[in-house]
Amino acid sequence: MLKYDSYYFQCPCCHAWLEGRNLKSELVNEAILYSDGKVLYDNYITTRQKMILCPSCGHVFWVENPTEPFITWDKPEAAVYSWNTWRFFGINFSDNKGKLALINHYQYFLKKSSYDPKKEIYLRRLLWWAYNDLHRNFQYIRWKYFLNGFMSYGVWSSYRRMLLEGEKLFLKNLKSFNENLNRLLVLLEKHPSEQIDLELPEIYREMRQFDKAKELLDQASSRTHFTNQMLKRSKWKDGRVFMVTG
Ligand SMILES: [Zn+2]
Repeated sequence: MLKYDSYYFQCPCCHAWLEGRNLKSELVNEAILYSDGKVLYDNYITTRQKMILCPSCGHVFWVENPTEPFITWDKPEAAVYSWNTWRFFGINFSDNKGKLALINHYQYFLKKSSYDPKKEIYLRRLLWWAYNDLHRNFQYIRWKYFLNGFMSYGVWSSYRRMLLEGEKLFLKNLKSFNENLNRLLVLLEKHPSEQIDLELPEIYREMRQFDKAKELLDQASSRTHFTNQMLKRSKWKDGRVFMVTG
């Protein structure tokens, strides 16, 4: 069964066709949610990529409001750049080198020009997730994830090595990580309609301002598995991203 619906769009500069993919809506419930708001299905991020670097001419453009004929569901006659060639700017981030390259792309875009608040929030949120990718699923370094038999020793130990190295790289980049979150916080407080549910307490928790995170969580209207987990981790002074459901 195909997990995605394909759509097609054109680079406004060189008119090359690119294939986009939307996860089939019935599968969204099977996705994994992380505390920073990133949602993964089958290891693929479900948030649509709005900023594109054309694989043909290198032009950078936004796909904000999909309207035909710029975007179409019908496969065009012409040659099409497949999703993998432009998604995440063509980066293969199965290793830490790729993950750092993705961070550098977002940093470059943010430095290169200024954006309206909505776009800047989008880019900074993706930059936040990209930093967290360096040590996402950090719990897998524990022996029990090998011992439960889901992974062979070889797969588990190389994944573990990548996570331990990723954690070091994350700490090395902590200053820029915090700078990005500080700026994102300012933007989200100015534009509350752009906030994702519980995003603010999570940002404070990840910036290790645990008292502020607890204060905001105490104000939250209802207690859920998610808020309880965040409170627990704030109490433990643990600021690392974690898996909420999956
Ligand atoms: Zn192009």
